[in-house]
Amino acid sequence: MTRSDSGRPVVHLVGAGPGDPDLLTLKAVRVIRQASVLLVDDLVGEGVLRYARRSARRVHVGKRGGCRSTPQDFIERLMAAEALRGERVVRLKGGDPFVFGRGGEEVEHLRALGIEVEVVNGITAGLAAATAIGVPLTHRDHAHGVMFVTGHAGREASRASGAGGAPLHWPTLAAAAAEGITLVIYMGIATVESLQAGLLAGLPHDTPVVVVQHASLPRQRHVVCQLGGLVAAVAREAIGSPSIIVVGDVVKVGLGLEARPAEGANAPSPVARGLLG
Ligand code: SAH
Repeated sequence: MTRSDSGRPVVHLVGAGPGDPDLLTLKAVRVIRQASVLLVDDLVGEGVLRYARRSARRVHVGKRGGCRSTPQDFIERLMAAEALRGERVVRLKGGDPFVFGRGGEEVEHLRALGIEVEVVNGITAGLAAATAIGVPLTHRDHAHGVMFVTGHAGREASRASGAGGAPLHWPTLAAAAAEGITLVIYMGIATVESLQAGLLAGLPHDTPVVVVQHASLPRQRHVVCQLGGLVAAVAREAIGSPSIIVVGDVVKVGLGLEARPAEGANAPSPVARGLLG
């Protein structure tokens, strides 16, 4: 039975990182190995589960295959019930549990039931995506900060982001970007038209942008473009979710630094082609 030092049941909320199992923390691996029940989000990489015991029960609670995702209250009830039964419950979430991951809601729910929660950081997709293509998010010649924002204005995403249902305010974000804040946008593909139009209200047409899909996984791909051509580039390259969109001059610094050439090692840098084109 898993009990905390205080004798109460405990659930671990574990960040599984962007997909590549090598990006798990040692703490995450240790906790995953000890789990008897794993509740797994759909953005958790397959390779991450290789650290789980064969005997551990795995419950997939994502919306893989286009199905509706498992309702959040069902997930929360299941976690609590298993923990109270004495199972060693690990809730595996893509990236970091506290970055657009509803980790906060789950902590509140479990604590209200007297269950202790330990949160284990993961590498959030925004960091992984930038690093995977060699973009230094706060290169001091180009940026003095970075903002992680959701591109999804829906109620669900707003709840996840803690925005409390407030609509996105692209002109404000554009103004921040114009002052040297790099924008790292999650869940932006579905709303890419309004994102582009909104940011163009305060940023030049030729602002560098990169979109990275499946960051850290073998199927990783990216497209570099200018803000004015973002919608067209996403359509042309058929880039879908999950993707991170990075907006700002730091994208230019990615020139030649790709960790993994996307389109052949000897081809001209896609970063260079995207910006010049
Ligand atoms: N908690 C997660 C974010 C969940 S929100 C984290 O910290 O990373 C889901 C969004 O994350 C997706 O729409 C996409 O924008 C982003 N995302 C997650 N995994 C990704 C990956 N491997 N590559 C690119 N984007 C990813």
